[in-house]
Amino acid sequence: MVEHSPRQGSIEVICGPMFSGKSEELIRRVKRATIARRRVQVFKPALDDRYDASAVASHSQQKHEAVPVGSTAELASRLDPLVEVIAVDEVQFLDDPIVELLERLADRGVRVIAAGLDQDFAGAPFGVMPALLAKAEYVSKLQAICMVCGAPASRSQRLVRSGGQVLVGAAEAYEARCRHCHTVPPPSDHQLLGEVP
Ligand code: ADP
Ligand code: ZN
Repeated sequence: MVEHSPRQGSIEVICGPMFSGKSEELIRRVKRATIARRRVQVFKPALDDRYDASAVASHSQQKHEAVPVGSTAELASRLDPLVEVIAVDEVQFLDDPIVELLERLADRGVRVIAAGLDQDFAGAPFGVMPALLAKAEYVSKLQAICMVCGAPASRSQRLVRSGGQVLVGAAEAYEARCRHCHTVPPPSDHQLLGEVP
């Protein structure tokens, strides 16, 4: 087992709405760590198969190999004991124990890079993100471009009618919007409308 200096471990969170460049930024950091000859592992929730089941892919078609995992327990079982850098994309889709696992890794000296949506389509905090943001040493909050007015965009506008927090999709189901152009259907509509295939 490589002895890491515990002083080197930390948690970096990259957050923001869809299309803000989170995956691009994660891939950029992973590439640089690889150039530095660090031992890197990249994970993503198995749920997110927008483009490729075994790669992190950005909307601009950049890609990096990733291990798809269904849960924190599965991620833990796939960890290389010698890992120096671990990156997790779309971390908002993982279950609660991911926060403690990433903290333990950072305590042990691992550099943790986690990217995810800070808000869901209704503008509410998404899953484990608030906890992870609170624990992180470094936070990069990115913005996209609002597709209505061209301002910086902090929110993901759902373009199809669906009540659930999780509706995995890309350009066809969502667009980036600023606070002022973002709209949320009233909760009563969510139930009336149901899931649209
Ligand atoms: P995220 O992981 O945050 O969803 P990606 O890294 O996958 O973002 O994609 C970012 C890329 O998406 C940009 O570099 C750009 O090419 C493209 N893009 C498409 N729509 C937008 C938008 N509204 N604002 C900014 N970038 C956009
Ligand atoms: Zn706008």
